[in-house]
Amino acid sequence: MNPTPRVVGTVLVLARLVPACNSEASSPTSPSEPAGSPLAASVALSPGSTLPDPGVFSSSRAFDHVRELAGGIGPRPAGSAAYARAARYVHARFVELGYRSRLVPFELPNGSTSRNVVATWPSPARSRILIGAHLDTVPGSPGANDNASGVAVILELARTHAGTSEARGIRFVAFGAEEVQPGGGHHFGSAAYAARAKPRAMVSVDMIGLDRTIIVGWMGIGSRKTVAALLSAAKESGVDAREKILPDWSDNGPFERAGVPSALLWTGDEPNHHEPTDVVANVRRAALLAAGTLVMTYVTQQLVL
Ligand SMILES: [Zn+2]
Repeated sequence: MNPTPRVVGTVLVLARLVPACNSEASSPTSPSEPAGSPLAASVALSPGSTLPDPGVFSSSRAFDHVRELAGGIGPRPAGSAAYARAARYVHARFVELGYRSRLVPFELPNGSTSRNVVATWPSPARSRILIGAHLDTVPGSPGANDNASGVAVILELARTHAGTSEARGIRFVAFGAEEVQPGGGHHFGSAAYAARAKPRAMVSVDMIGLDRTIIVGWMGIGSRKTVAALLSAAKESGVDAREKILPDWSDNGPFERAGVPSALLWTGDEPNHHEPTDVVANVRRAALLAAGTLVMTYVTQQLVL
C-alpha cells in the first residue's frame, strides 16, 4: 500500500461481529478433513463429490505468518536478499499445502529482477479468481501491517481451501514490488502479471491488520462487480465493511486498468505506515480473522453458488 502521506482516511472504529464458528476455540482442521463449522457447511459440493469443504480459518496460524515475515525476516524491499527469503518462505508454504507454486520473475526499474509467487491447485480447471497480497516492504520498515497481514491472510486461506473444490478456482499471488521503487513507479509485480493474464476477478488484501471496519476500495475503473460481491459477502458473514473510491494505492490498480473487476481490502491508513514501527505487536488477530472470513465467504459465493 502506498497512499500519499498527505491523505489520511477517516476510519470508523466499529464493534466487529464475527461468526462464532470462527472463534479461536475451534481447532484448526486439516485440509483433508471436512470441517464441521456452519460457515464451511454452507459450501455446497456437487453430488457425489468426495472433496472436503474448506477448513476453519485460524487467526493464530495467520498471525504466525505475520511473525515470520515481519518479525523473523523484517524489512524486505524489492530486489533485496530479505525479499528473496520471504518469497521462498511463501513458496514453501504453498508447496507443503499441495499447491503448484512458481516464482515468476519480472523486471524492476533499475534493471534488476524481482519475483511474484503464484500458487494454483493442481487441476485441469482454469482458476478464475485471483486473491493477492504484496510481499515487499519499503526499506527500513518490517511491514507487519503493510503487508505481512495480507500475505498471512492469503496463506491461511490457501490452507483452509487446500484440496477443496474452490481451490481449483482460485489463484493465490504474493506480489513483488508493490511499493514505490527507487527508479520511480510502483505496483510492478501486479502490473507484470496483469499484462499477461486476466482473471475473472481480483482481490488485493493490503494492510488488513487493524481492528477496524474493512474498506472495500477500488479506483472506480470499469466494473464494480467484485466490490459489490465483497460487500455482499461482508454482510453475509457479519464483517463490518464499507466501499470507498481510492487512488492507485494497491495491486488492484493494474488489474482495474486491464479491465478486470477488482478491489482492495484495507483497514485504513495509520501512523506506523512505512515506518520502522510497523511491527508485529500492532497487528490484531481479530482483524486477520475478519478479512479471512470475508474472503472465504466471497470465494464460496463466487465459485460454488
Ligand atoms: Zn506500503
